[in-house]
Amino acid sequence: MIYDLIVIGAGPAGLTASIYASRHKLKHVVFESGMCGGQLSMATHVENWPGEKQVMGAELAKRMEEQARALGMEVRCQPVSDIVKDEENNCFCCLAGNDRVQAKSVIIAMGASHRKLGVIGEDAFVGKGISYCATCDAPFFNGKVVAVIGGGDSALTTAVYLAAYAKKVFVIHRRKEFRAEESNQEKARRTPNVEFVLDSVVKEVKGDKRVKSAIVENVETKAVSELPLDGIFVYIGNTPASAIGKRVGVETDARAYVKVDAAMRTSVPGIFAAGDVTGSVPQAIVASGQGAIAAMSAYKFVKGFKDGIAVVNR
Ligand SMILES: Cc1cc2nc3c(=O)[nH]c(=O)nc-3n(C[C@H](O)[C@H](O)[C@H](O)COP(=O)(O)OP(=O)(O)OC[C@H]3O[C@@H](n4cnc5c(N)ncnc54)[C@H](O)[C@@H]3O)c2cc1C
Repeated sequence: MIYDLIVIGAGPAGLTASIYASRHKLKHVVFESGMCGGQLSMATHVENWPGEKQVMGAELAKRMEEQARALGMEVRCQPVSDIVKDEENNCFCCLAGNDRVQAKSVIIAMGASHRKLGVIGEDAFVGKGISYCATCDAPFFNGKVVAVIGGGDSALTTAVYLAAYAKKVFVIHRRKEFRAEESNQEKARRTPNVEFVLDSVVKEVKGDKRVKSAIVENVETKAVSELPLDGIFVYIGNTPASAIGKRVGVETDARAYVKVDAAMRTSVPGIFAAGDVTGSVPQAIVASGQGAIAAMSAYKFVKGFKDGIAVVNR
């Protein structure tokens, strides 16, 4: 059997793509290597999903999955290891274990993972003071003392953003110079409650129920100090799960994010991408929006409509 569509990844992008695929009567299957819901399941409190003042990430993810299943989503709990072109049948073939599953179109919705500090205490305090997303968590640190780890543009713009909530924001960076653009450095420098801690790395995160402090080492002097903190925002980069797409010819940008157009089309006709893997704003609502567009574009592709915008005319 040849499916109309294979969706790889069942985070907000993949689950929303499935909802839209079902409503467009596309025969599809969703592959998920871990848990349906993706990163959203790890969010403690989500306060930026329209219609919900506050909802647990796991609860929102569960509702998305239930809705997709109720509409007919078929899920295979297997990682896809490769996508290959099946020229003979004019379709794609996704390899998962010993299975080869064919489809006319594919949506890559495999997300991205945050680079971690890799220090003692980091995993234990995720959602309890350690965050990888200021847009998600800044309001929980009103009047508190936080640190941003990193020296790129996202670290410094995040520090300025957090300074509107937190009473003090330390930027801990392992070098003297920042990689961030000069204008972003200047904005951070001019923000009164932002303080740079340079040539320094976090060696350990300490706390009890929540983060209480970080052990910081100066890489030049080797001096070690304990910095009292309520929160730590880790901004040292992301790794998009784009390798499978790349191998089948999908173009990526310099940071390995999948390149898409406004209709979520990749450089390979019939392969679409949505969510964090595209390097868009890493938010559930954005991933879901892109998932919806990708599914509608896949519908147009499968039905042989002319290329164009993804919206199906009524
Ligand atoms: C702790 C935390 C808190 C957050 N809080 C918020 C918040 O408050 N508000 C908000 O809007 N956003 C929040 N986010 C961000 C949001 O969760 C992400 O932007 C969103 O989940 C991205 O959705 P996605 O579908 O693109 O990717 P993901 O959620 O990463 O889902 C990708 C899925 O693909 C699967 N996968 C990967 N590779 C394969 C493969 N080879 N085969 C099969 N499956 C595969 C993964 O297992 C995963 O389930 C938070 C994220 C984290 C980590």
